[in-house]
Amino acid sequence: TASTTGLSKELLMSLYPVTATKIYMNLGEPTLIDKYQDLPFDGIGLMRIEFIVSEWVKYHPLYLIKTGQSNLFIDKLSEGVAKVAQAIYPRPVVVRFSDFKTNEYRKLQGGEEFEPEERNPMIGWRGVSRYVSKVYEPAFRLEVRAILKAREEMGLKNVWVMFPFVRTTWELRRAISIMEEEGLRRSSDFKVWIMAEVPSVVVLADEFSKMVDGFSVGSNDLTQLTLGVDRDSDLLASMGYYDERDPAVMASIRRLIKTAHRNGATVSICGQAPSNYPEVAEQLVRAGIDSVSVNPDTVVRTRRYIASVEHKIILEESSGAKRKMRY
Ligand code: PEP
Ligand code: MG
Repeated sequence: TASTTGLSKELLMSLYPVTATKIYMNLGEPTLIDKYQDLPFDGIGLMRIEFIVSEWVKYHPLYLIKTGQSNLFIDKLSEGVAKVAQAIYPRPVVVRFSDFKTNEYRKLQGGEEFEPEERNPMIGWRGVSRYVSKVYEPAFRLEVRAILKAREEMGLKNVWVMFPFVRTTWELRRAISIMEEEGLRRSSDFKVWIMAEVPSVVVLADEFSKMVDGFSVGSNDLTQLTLGVDRDSDLLASMGYYDERDPAVMASIRRLIKTAHRNGATVSICGQAPSNYPEVAEQLVRAGIDSVSVNPDTVVRTRRYIASVEHKIILEESSGAKRKMRY
């Protein structure tokens, strides 16, 4: 597709360094792709759909099902996904299934009827636990049908999916089987990723690796849950507790990369950590991360920085080789 500057995609990319680590971009509002399409990204590593649901659909999906308007949800969601997938084709768009918490779902029109009030929505009925529940499962099927529509009807085979807030293997197995019942199955051109946000995913990474093509570290939630620190607590943040560079968080990510690679799965990261701290980005590249997905405002900086880190690693390795040869 034509760029806003009139330059070809290839020429634009040639203005920036090539990296072995893929640089992906996070996106939420589909129309923003018009503004950012010339940035040097290799794909969308996290497409959040919450914006589409709250601003385009506006209604709670279960309310739409109850009132016979399911197609409104499928049409708007597939339209938003397709807009982005078309603009950056054939680069992949990793669409994350909905990750609203109950307090956020309640704000959608008609939502109060379906959403319980939880004491701790952040660690409540969220992510995959919704998709496998009797109440939300029909709405999850609409999400899947929207993906199917973009891939099959609109021919956008660069649309992949990602499951957020995965806690257990049994819930993931169930969610994947619901997806398969709808006709979406892993294949060479359809990758399924899960987010590594709950420490259980790192602990059981061997088992999870066998069920999916890749992981994406949600460092915002992984930091919160590894350290037991509410990510919205200004008090704890001001005391220095909320810190993605914490050795426990970094060790978790390194361990995940090792285990995933041993099983042929890829690892990405889509939280704020590499944008907030260049040293985290460097450590991740050294640990062999496959891709890094950052917000639009840090795509260029991240690509340049990671290129310099990769260059440094090559120099270190070649000088190490020379030393070895001398003795
Ligand atoms: C994360 O947890 O790091 C993440 C990217 O998801 P969100 O910030 O939307 O919870
Ligand atoms: Mg998260």
